[in-house]
Amino acid sequence: MAGTGKFFVGGNWKCNGTKDSISKLVADLNGGKMESDVDVVVAPPFVYIDQVKNSLTDRIEISAQNCWVGKGGAFTGEISAEQLIDMGCQWVILGHSERRHIIGEADKFIGKKAAYALSQNLKVIACIGEKLEEREAGKTFDVCFQQMKAFADSITSWEDVVIAYEPVWAIGTGKVATPEQAQEVHGAVRDWLKKNISEEVASSTRIIYGGSVNGSNCSELAKQEDIDGFLVGGASLKGPEFGTIVNSVT
Ligand code: PGA
Repeated sequence: MAGTGKFFVGGNWKCNGTKDSISKLVADLNGGKMESDVDVVVAPPFVYIDQVKNSLTDRIEISAQNCWVGKGGAFTGEISAEQLIDMGCQWVILGHSERRHIIGEADKFIGKKAAYALSQNLKVIACIGEKLEEREAGKTFDVCFQQMKAFADSITSWEDVVIAYEPVWAIGTGKVATPEQAQEVHGAVRDWLKKNISEEVASSTRIIYGGSVNGSNCSELAKQEDIDGFLVGGASLKGPEFGTIVNSVT
């Protein structure tokens, strides 16, 4: 923790769950003990947002996993930021690597989505991260900074933005980045913010880590100076383990 604000833990449920499994997960989350000094957010699939909103404790905020780039209208299959706000969502995850690399969303498009979501008062978890071949080619910083630049080209206020560094090779693979590897990139992203945005934004913006975070590896990662929280996939589907991750900062 670099003293940048509250520790932040997000659970990205991805395309998982049924009404029944989600009701059980929500019951676990409602019953779990969570440090008061941590911001906790969960991101259910769109179709379960209402169910979660109506059953989950207000202590935990709700995020969508994506949204449309602008105002709603004739965009079949899309969900707008206005609709997410209407359903009680406070956050949206944008630029997740699965959307970048499986769906093919481009940096600029993601930057515009972020700017539009923020304009509608939706807070943004802005994801960046390199692929394995990019890391092996020594391009980790280039890739992360290019993705940061695309956000910065569109975003004018960083107050409601959390940056999630998620190396693609660590997502869903069980291969977590070492605390040193994660810290190196988090520190570099904070320096990038200092040089390219402002010192104030660099020190106040939370940079969270994602990629195979679990109940066993979270404490070591949480000790790193520039790691301000986590974005958790697989382990966020298990209520008690997610609780352990939420409480890992203490
Ligand atoms: P994982 O996913 O924890 O399952 O690796 C993280 C993410 O995609 O946000």
